[in-house]
Amino acid sequence: MKTFENLESEVRSYSRGWPTVFEKSKGYKLWDTDGKEYIDFFAGAGTLNYGHNDDAMQEKLIEYIKNDGVIHSLDMATIPRKDFLERFTDVILKPRNLDYKIMFPGPTGTNTVESALKIARKITGRETVISFTNAFHGMTIGSLSVTGNSFKRHGAGVPLHHAVSMPFDNYVEDNDSIAYLDRFLEDSGSGVALPAAIILETVQGEGGINAARMEWLKKVEALCRRWDILLIVDDVQAGNGRTGTFFSFEPAGIKPDVVCLSKSIGGIGLPMAITLIKSEYDQWGPGEHNGTFRGNNMAFLAATEALKNWENDDFANAVQEKGAFLKSEINRLIDHYPELNGEARGRGLMQGIAVEKEGLAGEICAEAFERGLIVETSGPDDEVVKFLPPLIIDQEGLVKGLDILEDSIKHVLK
Ligand code: PMP
Repeated sequence: MKTFENLESEVRSYSRGWPTVFEKSKGYKLWDTDGKEYIDFFAGAGTLNYGHNDDAMQEKLIEYIKNDGVIHSLDMATIPRKDFLERFTDVILKPRNLDYKIMFPGPTGTNTVESALKIARKITGRETVISFTNAFHGMTIGSLSVTGNSFKRHGAGVPLHHAVSMPFDNYVEDNDSIAYLDRFLEDSGSGVALPAAIILETVQGEGGINAARMEWLKKVEALCRRWDILLIVDDVQAGNGRTGTFFSFEPAGIKPDVVCLSKSIGGIGLPMAITLIKSEYDQWGPGEHNGTFRGNNMAFLAATEALKNWENDDFANAVQEKGAFLKSEINRLIDHYPELNGEARGRGLMQGIAVEKEGLAGEICAEAFERGLIVETSGPDDEVVKFLPPLIIDQEGLVKGLDILEDSIKHVLK
């Protein structure tokens, strides 16, 4: 079956560039209505870190529904909500010495970013937020205002205010944007107002798999401390173990003031988001930031189950090992196919190959789809083939996917 062509004249449901109808999914695989199998190197843009239809999560959900468990409860206290809060505190926060209040800002990534921007302004009484070139933080007005993609920003029609975009790490060779910012802030006549916050992704997902160096992240944190600016890390895509540690900023040894999590926090692909706010900044009164779909109990159940993966280091170690293998394979492909003019990007299981020729990354992805691999482009000019396999993928799955990728590269280059 092809896509819903007959429907598309009536509805604005443009399907992504994968011309089939998907029916089933398990682990790192999907199947379409013709029974064709696909290996998933996309994982719902980083939402399916634990794979499709994890057995244990599935069982918990089925049992809960069968027993008439409360599905939607807004802010009411429920057992799944309590279990999630306890496990997140015990398994994630305490072992990392992180003193955060856990907030439910709404169901999606953009909701957590909005809440982060709001609390930073409320606490500091300042308006501006500094973000970075090629950043992606969401599509609502606030999160879009800190998104460094002019095409997406044009969707808002008129200019978005209150945001200053600085060059991301390495975006301009030898350009230390943080040192510049320091100089601007020192000069009261520079026109750059003291911001409420700096928001960043440690690895920019939509912006082209640009991984900031740990020293740069440390510098950003030091600048924030020096000027009393809040540091917000948007870990919506790079968090939940994607880069090899639960939080992507752990190897840098920094402690952001606010952390945004969504996508894979919901375990099995259910909408969920949390905002972590340093206790001293948890200054909202009841009702100052709420929303109907916070606190979905199905998401809490799956999320709590997912956190079992973080009770010891095995899961993280496995992600790091698979990430190292993926990196070596990417480097091999780049060496073997010099016509790609490829550049390896990213860390953990959040990696990509940037290619030089316009349109080439898209051609490779389209060919890979025909051959049974789901992989997407990213970057301002769609110049990066981006790999986000489910973290539970095994060696066989990685090798199979990479074989399809290599065949696709060969075919497109010939
Ligand atoms: N922040 C980052 C880093 C993202 O990658 C995304 C989604 N791609 C968002 C925020 C927005 O999340 P959502 O689409 O769930 O609103």
